[in-house]
Amino acid sequence: MTIESQIDETEYERLAGGTHGDVLRPGDEDYKEARSVWNATVDRRPAAVVRPTGAADVIAAVEFARERDLPLAVKGGGHNVAGNAVCEDGLTIDCSSMASVRVDPEAQTARVGPGATMADLDHETQAFGLATPGGVISTTGVAGLTLGGGVGWLSRKYGLAIDNLRSVDVVTADGELLTVSDDENADLFWALRGGSGNFGVVTSFEFALHEVGPEVLFGPIVWSYEDAPDVLAHYREFAANAPRECTVWVNSVAAPPLPFLPEGVHGTTVLIAVAFYAGDREDGEATLEGLRTYGDPIADAVGPIPYTEAQSMLDDLYGEGARNYWKAPNFTELTEGTIDTIVDYATRLPTPESEILVHQVGGAVNDVSTDATAYPHRDTEYIVTVAARWDEASRDEECIEWVRECHDALAEDATGGTYVNFEAEREGRERNAYGENYDRLAELKRAYDPENVFHLNQNVAPAD
Ligand SMILES: Cc1cc2nc3c(=O)[nH]c(=O)nc-3n(C[C@H](O)[C@H](O)[C@H](O)COP(=O)(O)OP(=O)(O)OC[C@H]3O[C@@H](n4cnc5c(N)ncnc54)[C@H](O)[C@@H]3O)c2cc1C
Repeated sequence: MTIESQIDETEYERLAGGTHGDVLRPGDEDYKEARSVWNATVDRRPAAVVRPTGAADVIAAVEFARERDLPLAVKGGGHNVAGNAVCEDGLTIDCSSMASVRVDPEAQTARVGPGATMADLDHETQAFGLATPGGVISTTGVAGLTLGGGVGWLSRKYGLAIDNLRSVDVVTADGELLTVSDDENADLFWALRGGSGNFGVVTSFEFALHEVGPEVLFGPIVWSYEDAPDVLAHYREFAANAPRECTVWVNSVAAPPLPFLPEGVHGTTVLIAVAFYAGDREDGEATLEGLRTYGDPIADAVGPIPYTEAQSMLDDLYGEGARNYWKAPNFTELTEGTIDTIVDYATRLPTPESEILVHQVGGAVNDVSTDATAYPHRDTEYIVTVAARWDEASRDEECIEWVRECHDALAEDATGGTYVNFEAEREGRERNAYGENYDRLAELKRAYDPENVFHLNQNVAPAD
C-alpha cells in the first residue's frame, strides 16, 4: 500500500477540518522535521502528522486513526532509540506543538505539556529554584522519558520522574480524556508510570518539584583506560557509600576533543566519571574528594555550576543525526566479572562515539516497592548502557553486533531486567522491560485499549 492511498484528499480534508493544529503530509514544508527522530537508523514516513494545539486535536486524531485502523504513533521529544515516535504510513501525533510548562511556586508543582523537553522544564522550574528528576540531556522529551520511568541526576535523592508525578491528563483509545492520579482512575495512573506509550496520549503531566540549586557540583574526572579496572573497582565502593545527593555515572569512551583534556589523549579510550552533587557545597566537596583524588586522573573539571548548565553540558556529545543502537541491562551490583567485561569490550569500541556507560541508580528510586508503579526495577543499583554510535549505514551490522555481544557477555551477572527507555528493539524485550508487572499491565491494556490502538511501543498485548 502506498502512503498516499492511506489518507486520500477527502480523508485529509476531514482530518484537517477536525483539528486546529497543523496537519502535515509528504511534501509539506515541516513534514521532514516532524517525521525525523534522534536515531538516524529510523527512517519512517507517516501518511500524515498532526501537530495538536490541545486535547481536542488529540481526541480527533486518535478517533481518526482508530476508525480507519491506521497505525498510530505519538511523538514527544523523538529521542526514543527504537524510533517509537514515528510510524510507516499511518498517523503520527507530534506533540511538539504542546510544549508549555506552568510552574506553581507556592504549591511546588509544574504542569507540563507533552511536547516539552527537559530544557523547557528545567528553565521554567529553575526560575523559582525548583526542579524535578528527569533526563541528563536537555533535548530529551519529558513525555517519553516520564512514561518509561525517567532517571537522572536527582533520582537517588527524589526518585524517578514517575515517582514525582501527581496527575496526568490522558486521551485513551476510545477518545476519552481522563484525569488520572492516586485518587482518580488510580489503576490507569499506575499503568502510565512505567507502561510507556501503551495506554493513551498524555496531554498534560503534573509534577511535584523540589528545591534544587541554583548551583550544583558537577563535572568530569578522567583517567587513562589502563587504570580502568582499578578505578572501576574503587568506584564500586565509592558509589555504594555515596549519600543520595551524590550521583556518579562512569563512561568508557574515546576522549572527546574538549579543552580541559590534553590534546594527546583526544580520541583514545578513557574512563570518565561524571559527578553530580546537589546539596551543601562543602559536603559535596568532601564527598567527592574520595573519587577525585583516587589514582592519577588525567583531568578533573568538577566545579560549581548552575543546575541548568549541568543539565545541558553533555548535549553536544549526543546530538541527533547519528546512527545508534543500545542495550541496557540492569544490575544490583558491579561484580568483578561485569567490570572485566566492560573493560574488555571498551578496548574495542567500534567507533570513538560508542560507549559503555554505567548509570548509578538506587537511593530513593528503590524506596518504592516493585508493584507500586508499572516500572518494576526497584532493586537496580546500576544500569549499564552499551551504546554504539556511527555514521555510515554500511557499518550497521558490525556496530549492532558489538552491542549485542557485549550485552550477552554482561548478562551473566545482570538481573535480566531492562529499562524500557534504553531499549533499541521494539519487539522481544517486553517481559524484561515490564518484569513482574507485565500481567497486570496486560489486564489494564484489555480494559483501556482492547484493540491495541497504541501498539507502536514496547508493546503490552491486551490479556486474552
Ligand atoms: C541522548 C539521550 C539521552 C537520554 N538520557 C536519558 C536520561 O538521562 N534518563 C532517562 O530516563 N532516559 C534518557 N534517555 C532515554 C529517553 O528516556 C527515551 O528515549 C524516551 O523515550 C525519550 O522520550 P521522548 O519524548 O523524547 O521520545 P519519543 O521518541 O518522542 O517517545 C518515546 C515513547 O513515548 C511515547 N510517547 C511520547 N509522547 C507521548 C505522549 N504524549 N503520550 C503517550 N505516549 C507518548 C511514544 O509513543 C514512544 O513510545 C535518553 C535518550 C537519548 C536519546
